[in-house]
Amino acid sequence: MQSALEAFLSDRNRPTPFLVLDPAVVARRYAELTQAFPGAEILYAVKACPHPAVLRVLVDAGAGFDAASPAEVASCVEAGADPARICAGNPVRGAAATAACHAAGVRRFVTDSVEDLDELAVHAPGAEVLVRVLVDDTGSATPFFGKFGATPAVATELLRGCGSRGLVATGVTFHAGSQQTRPATYSAGAATAVAVATEAGVQRPVLDIGGGLPVAYRSAVPAWAEFAAAVAGHDVRLVVEPGRALVAEAGVLRTSVLRVSRRPGVDHRRWVYLDAGRYQGLAETENEAIDYPVRVAGRDGPTGPVVIAGPTCDGDDVLYRRTPYALPLSLRAGDHVDLLHAGAYTASYASVGFNGFAPLPVHVAPQPSSRAT
Ligand SMILES: *Cc1c(COP(=O)(O)O)cnc(C)c1O
Repeated sequence: MQSALEAFLSDRNRPTPFLVLDPAVVARRYAELTQAFPGAEILYAVKACPHPAVLRVLVDAGAGFDAASPAEVASCVEAGADPARICAGNPVRGAAATAACHAAGVRRFVTDSVEDLDELAVHAPGAEVLVRVLVDDTGSATPFFGKFGATPAVATELLRGCGSRGLVATGVTFHAGSQQTRPATYSAGAATAVAVATEAGVQRPVLDIGGGLPVAYRSAVPAWAEFAAAVAGHDVRLVVEPGRALVAEAGVLRTSVLRVSRRPGVDHRRWVYLDAGRYQGLAETENEAIDYPVRVAGRDGPTGPVVIAGPTCDGDDVLYRRTPYALPLSLRAGDHVDLLHAGAYTASYASVGFNGFAPLPVHVAPQPSSRAT
């Protein structure tokens, strides 16, 4: 049977660019993840793809949510989520957002600084607190470079400081960086985080291993079971916060070729300009961090090397210059180029109108069974 995404894409007349999502793929990935991490609580990181159809299918499947802002909390609640299953996972909310999340019924907060802990005491009294521990995120395609997380010594002090502030020290979390391909990074992070909880005297702590689980874009990645094995063996309540891993494969971003240029004196390769680029959903091509599989429907024959660029006047709007890509020599303006596994960090990253280009339209593919035959 043709997948819902392929069925949707077989209509070649829709204006491009657009992202098409299949929520059934999200549900399937969620079920697979619960099998890889039996007994763990799964909180979907909303920022990866906040589309209501995705949130609804995850509510129905029993997921909780990792929300970074009051607006993300509201989207989850609107999709039917119980606020008790939402964790405010961004340690840099600010006082007003902390108060708004608390007022919406959120009781779990992540922190990594004494400044935030003081705000939680005032604006989220009685909240359960997880402290984010700084860990090595080597092996991530998009590392954090130390933006978040307290050193183990500071993290221990933050947990110890909860009680006197009327907060409940609940456990520890870390984030190994997104598209993290090394299970060993998780085992090291988990060991560091659990040691902090033990040192602070938290009984049977929550160990939230964050997100980062990788997707096989153009290269194979380890199975989820290997990541689960890497964090096993601690006496903890395990929580996983996947974003990318649940939604990437549920989306295809269809673009059209605006121009194929030979550029004598500039580059020996053809330059292929698409109608979507860095500002229409392909933000993760920054530093060429994510290499989407690319497909040209209806063009066979020999291929040759290309540079792939977006449509705007920004010099940064080049998707792949270093990363080798080859496209058919017969490629012409007007052809469709589909970027696969594009469900994560695309629509939510699109700009509102840089150079006059609209935000990326999003479609939800009807399930084949619900289509007239
Ligand atoms: C972004 C984020 C995630 C999800 O990361 P992925 O790499 O998409 O799985 C999970 N937790 C937190 C706190 C995040 O900021």
